[in-house]
Amino acid sequence: MELHIVCIPGDGIGPEIVSEAKKVLQKVAGQYGHTLILKDVLMGGASIDAYGVPLTDETIAQAKAADAVLMGSIGGDPNTSPWYRLAPDKRPEAGLLKIRKSLNLFANLRPAYLYPQLAAACPLKEDISKAGFDMLIMRELTGGLYFGERKTTVENGVRRAVDTLTYDENEIRRIAIKGFEIARKRRHKVTSVDKANVLDSSRLWREVVNQVAKDYPDVTLEHMLVDNCAMQLVRNPAQFDVILTENMFGDILSDEASMVTGSIGMLASASLNDTRFGLYEPSHGSAPDIAGRNLANPIATILSAAMMLRYSFDLDREADEIEQAVRQVLQEGYRTGDIMSEGCTQVSCSKMGDLIADRIGA
Ligand code: NAD
Repeated sequence: MELHIVCIPGDGIGPEIVSEAKKVLQKVAGQYGHTLILKDVLMGGASIDAYGVPLTDETIAQAKAADAVLMGSIGGDPNTSPWYRLAPDKRPEAGLLKIRKSLNLFANLRPAYLYPQLAAACPLKEDISKAGFDMLIMRELTGGLYFGERKTTVENGVRRAVDTLTYDENEIRRIAIKGFEIARKRRHKVTSVDKANVLDSSRLWREVVNQVAKDYPDVTLEHMLVDNCAMQLVRNPAQFDVILTENMFGDILSDEASMVTGSIGMLASASLNDTRFGLYEPSHGSAPDIAGRNLANPIATILSAAMMLRYSFDLDREADEIEQAVRQVLQEGYRTGDIMSEGCTQVSCSKMGDLIADRIGA
């Protein structure tokens, strides 16, 4: 199979971690007889330096022409980088918002998996972390409160601010379908999270999700109120498989779920549209404090590349192989500085990439 992938190394540690993910992709492609066609493009600060804007139309066109995009991370230190003296719509992060919008990426996926080897980093009580967890938060990314009408007014000297939370049934249906499809690749369970006891938008959410569920009789559906879900994530995270939710609830719950894994350098993510196309990137930022020193943990980006194989190319076996290689390297005691613990061997970013690539097909 030919895999056309646009790579956005980005800023800070971005080029270092993307380079390791490419190494691992090359290895798995060679192993399974696929041809990788990789093209690097600029975005964020690197694009500002080269072209004066964080994202060019040419880059968008190249991304659209590919099957998937693999990204490192963009942005610099907001206190010291000259990029942050530019107007907000010219700064690195504006490129990120623009590419998500241009590619119509409405579904954001963030897995939260507790590696048994890293259980000590989990801030939950040992009896909870011992059970482990493996969930995926699917968050609607282009609707709801963050995109509704907003305004601030002053009436009789009193300031009033209004934000609106709107969803139409088509927006809910398309993300629900994604959620059920992805549950089929996992443990066949969807927990749909809303606030249907209060919000109309949540009541519509629940109705549409119930309709969609009829087409997926092999997937178990449960509904949970968002306040309860926030509690359950720290009380019994093992109960969750796919958590399906709207934009703001997903924003908060996905950060909470990431936190309980305890290690930011391990967290992958994907943003999908209604085709198989997706943009895959680690959940963390560009870590300017450690950039250019071969210290970064490349695993979140490597696992994002595995998600790309699974969700954009349907190459589940190849994705499993990468995930297994990561588990094996951790089992053998290799760690980058951010996840280092006593008795383990500390390695650099590039060494971690080498080790994972070496374990593929071994
Ligand atoms: P950050 O995630 O870059 O860093 C937070 C802390 O975690 C730092 O101490 C960093 O060294 C560490 N860290 C992060 N990733 C790591 C890795 N792979 N290996 C080892 N350590 C790692 O968050 P920040 O410092 O708040 O943001 C830095 C820049 O990144 C900002 O410009 C921000 O806007 C940008 N950012 C970009 C994205 C993105 O590209 N999607 C996401 C978040 C932040």
